[in-house]
Amino acid sequence: MPDGDPPLTFRDLAGRPVTDLKGVGEKRGSSLAVVEVYTILDLLQHYPRRYLDRTRQARIGELVPGDEATVLAEVRSASTRQLRGRRTLTNVVIGDGTGKVTLAFFNQRWREKQLKPGMQLLVHGKYEVYRGTPQMGSPVVDLMGDQTGRIIPVYPQSEKAGLMTADLGRFVAEALRRCAPRGLLDPVPEQVLDRFDFVTREAALGGIHAPETMVEKDEARRRLVFDELLRVQLELVRRKRRIERETAGIAHTVDGELVDRFHDRLPFPLTAAQDRAIAEIGADLALARPMHRLLQGDVGAGKTLVAVTALLAAVQGGHQGALMAPTEVLAEQHHLGVTAMLGDLSVPDPTTLMGDRPLRVELLTNRVGAAERRKILADLITGKVDLLIGTHALIQDKVEYASLGVVVIDEQHRFGVEQRAALRDKGDAGAAPDVLVMTATPIPRTAAMTVYGDLDVSVLDELPPGRTPIATEAAQTPDEEEDVWAAVRDEVAAGRQAYVVCPLIGESEALDVRSATETFEELEGGHLHGLSLALLHGQMPSDEKQSVMERFRAGDVQVLVATTVIEVGVDVPNATVMVVLDADRFGIAQLHQLRGRVGRGEHASRCFLVGEPTTSDGESRIQALVDSTDGFALAEVDLDLRGEGTIMGERQKGRNDLRLASLRRDKEWVATAREVAIQIIDEDPELEAHPGLADEIALLLGDDEAEFLMKS
Ligand code: ADP
Ligand code: MG
Repeated sequence: MPDGDPPLTFRDLAGRPVTDLKGVGEKRGSSLAVVEVYTILDLLQHYPRRYLDRTRQARIGELVPGDEATVLAEVRSASTRQLRGRRTLTNVVIGDGTGKVTLAFFNQRWREKQLKPGMQLLVHGKYEVYRGTPQMGSPVVDLMGDQTGRIIPVYPQSEKAGLMTADLGRFVAEALRRCAPRGLLDPVPEQVLDRFDFVTREAALGGIHAPETMVEKDEARRRLVFDELLRVQLELVRRKRRIERETAGIAHTVDGELVDRFHDRLPFPLTAAQDRAIAEIGADLALARPMHRLLQGDVGAGKTLVAVTALLAAVQGGHQGALMAPTEVLAEQHHLGVTAMLGDLSVPDPTTLMGDRPLRVELLTNRVGAAERRKILADLITGKVDLLIGTHALIQDKVEYASLGVVVIDEQHRFGVEQRAALRDKGDAGAAPDVLVMTATPIPRTAAMTVYGDLDVSVLDELPPGRTPIATEAAQTPDEEEDVWAAVRDEVAAGRQAYVVCPLIGESEALDVRSATETFEELEGGHLHGLSLALLHGQMPSDEKQSVMERFRAGDVQVLVATTVIEVGVDVPNATVMVVLDADRFGIAQLHQLRGRVGRGEHASRCFLVGEPTTSDGESRIQALVDSTDGFALAEVDLDLRGEGTIMGERQKGRNDLRLASLRRDKEWVATAREVAIQIIDEDPELEAHPGLADEIALLLGDDEAEFLMKS
């Protein structure tokens, strides 16, 4: 490549097959394809999984039984013998000059061929002494090849590809050497590089693959992580701003009289968090561009009140509000709750003699009879209905609004993107309604910035005063379980009520239902004999479900045995005990939701997580719930336990551009990248002055990818 050519871009590197490199022929090329390295860019972005610092590395002679250790050693011998049954045991003896250890592999006869005497291995495993012989059972093995240098990069899956980690190091070095004459384009604006004192991109790629020191590696990582996060945030912010520019919304009257009247009649002051969220929402509503905001708040934080405030802002300006719930039970409950909260609130109406008219709230679900439904729909078109509450029935084609101003969607995770879009289309001609999505499943703020990149986020991080915290206990032994049922009987005797949530089997709803039915029968005939029990599950006809819920609300049913249909939103203040069976089968968020069904009234509440955990993750989840009632803290634990894959969605994880960055580990950088992205896009909405960045985003995020980010 002649000098004087412009620096190489990622696109240039993506255009060169890895077989262009010296030493990478067809065979090596197909090995690299196994780890999805096809181009020079793929190779440079195939980052080491970890590093071995030779100066701090363990010596075999110094290991003590029980140590988890990584040792660098040479293969001395390998042999396989037949065990009983069809099993084989392959023993590979390795040594590092200070001692020897035998690696034991079951049913991996191929190891004998793979690990030849003289080969350098990096081995990670648990050191033990078995019948007098030092041993590591089923260790992780990396083939090192001839490694020099103090710090050795260890590449992911090199073994799967049949590559030595040293080979990869050599290819990368060769690739960087070939790039050197033209240099690599650094598309990130200079003042950003200065602000964070970043190394150049070229130095970062060199430093991540072949660091001289761990500090150099850390600096390299910091830079590359930022670049990844910046690309994602630039794309998200750009799309968000585009929608804001291109979609006309309604400029609502936020300081009208109706909202004031509503707040004045509340029997309690707003929490500071509610005040803040209402102000943030108000600022959005006042603008002539559609709001698209997520309201996150723990169970019981008072989201409904904030949502109703937003809906009333629409009404006081002559528009309508809609509140959409994921299930009929919840829609009905919202209807009860909201009408109670509004009482006989009246709408200022200058066209009438009295200057006031009653506020009209209607419920629309599939259970509403045909005649009533017709009437509601007719009054909706003419604007006589102010607030409509319901399930997805609200967005069916037949439902037409006079002027839909604000839509609140409760528990967004149950709604698809299409439904959200359909609702948006229900606005006045040319103007899209403002959308507020409420969720009680907190996710860490930085994760939200990526997962809900197209939404602004308001957080209710404070519970109204006077709540008694829910005491949570794990019950793992039969004796402890006895105590749980005794506690349920005691609470019921004291006039309280209880939930029993049945294990989620997961394979099919029918199985879940069967297990719930069995549990119900067992409890009724056994531990809870003599109490009034009822069963609730998702396959019951909806009027039956409703009647069970009504009897529970009324206190006629003392113990409700249910599947997770009660997970979201069911609100019975007299219920003070939540028993979750086989609790380790549930996720943290789900357990937290379930627990949130109690502790809603004046009485102290308890939650019992029953069952002996079958996995260590299950154990950690239960412990997390026992330790904390703070949904946001729990969300962080959840992210730690599960990794971001589950939050981003497995599909996305495999495809997205976040190779090094971790939403968990690099939290601050997510926020920083977002901030920088907003600055850049607000000055240069379509990145015309930043063609290098624009091109990289197009290359690495692509349209599909960005669409997916927006939709998740
Ligand atoms: P969420 O939907 O966030 O789980 P809700 O909106 O259902 O919470 O509110 C839970 C309960 O707290 C309701 O009974 C509500 O009336 C009450 N509440 C809401 N805001 C306040 C407040 N600022 N002070 C006291 N109680 C409140
Ligand atoms: Mg609620």
